[in-house]
Amino acid sequence: MYDDTAFEQLVQTVKLHALTDPVQVICDARTFKVAGQRTEATLLSAGVDAKTFIVPDQNGKSPICDETTKNTLNNSLPKTAVMIAVGSGVINDLVKWVSFERNIPYYVMATAASMNGYAAANVAATVNGVKTLMRAHAPLAVFAVPHIIENAPFEMTASGLGDALAKPVSSADWRLNQILFDEYYCQFIVDIVKELEPGYLDHPEGIKSRDPAAIESLFKTLFYSGVAMTLAGTSSPASGGEHLLSHALDMLSLRDHLDHDLHGRQVGIGTILSAALYEKLWAQDTVTLTPLSPHVDAAFWGALTDEVSGHYQQKLKTAATIANRFSNKDAWQKLKQGLTPFLRSPQTIKNCLKIASAAHQINNIGRYSTDAFTRVWQNCHQLRSRFTILDLAHMAGIMPVCACDLIKKWVV
Ligand SMILES: [Zn+2]
Repeated sequence: MYDDTAFEQLVQTVKLHALTDPVQVICDARTFKVAGQRTEATLLSAGVDAKTFIVPDQNGKSPICDETTKNTLNNSLPKTAVMIAVGSGVINDLVKWVSFERNIPYYVMATAASMNGYAAANVAATVNGVKTLMRAHAPLAVFAVPHIIENAPFEMTASGLGDALAKPVSSADWRLNQILFDEYYCQFIVDIVKELEPGYLDHPEGIKSRDPAAIESLFKTLFYSGVAMTLAGTSSPASGGEHLLSHALDMLSLRDHLDHDLHGRQVGIGTILSAALYEKLWAQDTVTLTPLSPHVDAAFWGALTDEVSGHYQQKLKTAATIANRFSNKDAWQKLKQGLTPFLRSPQTIKNCLKIASAAHQINNIGRYSTDAFTRVWQNCHQLRSRFTILDLAHMAGIMPVCACDLIKKWVV
């Protein structure tokens, strides 16, 4: 529900439950002011017994979604009938996680078009220092008031744009898995957000100026991306190789006790680079695949080596099955034809991010040198078992050798 009456609609919906225990509103210090207070007030004035818990900041920064925070939240809450997440990424994931463990329903009052997890069943948490996706459950409904979404901090909206723009390459990566490994794939799920894409891709200036129509397209794309993941039962429709770059940056920052940028801002850069890989590979008339390196780069991953290696070993088994796949030129052409309809050029994606004033260069997302960033991109395919364009590029000899040139061409 994306409407000015969202608060009232949320309360009417919550009242349909047998409310034998209080309704628990969860927010952080910022979202309490933006929408948490009003959510609680609307519930109370409708006669609903509602309580609010504000997840505290950590070391002066916004809360994160990890086991410690989840346990603290869970231990702080009394018995409750329904939970309401008021916020965006972290608050949603924490409420999704706790309500799943308690086996109670939850709703969302969204506060920003910043990420695509609102309607998703997955929790993106940090477990043992590694970004992990855990299956939990989806909310019963998501509510949003347009002027709250339009007036969210701009960096959050720009982050959402990066996450939304990942759709073409993540869909291509998903289809790649179907063609190569006969994995489950659903065109209907991919097409869910197709009609919304022009609303922001063709009007990035509208994102910058907070134009209501452009922000609505963006918010709905992010919402339906979450629906797509829930329907598919996997994050594959909205998370491919472009996401691995962001996950790697997050994990390495955590390992080294450094800050990292917002998810979607990093994903946007990963998306430009994944699109560049597709473009470079697709320019080849033939391709010869060689096996992936048998080991992860321990010098690069350091303390994360064992964790990453477990995922990578799984991938090696899958990748080995396609060693001779394209010895026949027709098979390569067929793969290209199958994926081309999904793809957008790196230039199109970069222009959209640039015009919207979103992150589109390395120096927009932190103090990474070109060399350091290149190493992250060269290694990030190792941290998940799922095959992506990054792996195909490694097997085709484009990665790691061309990584630095592509980075200099597109994101420096
Ligand atoms: Zn994402």
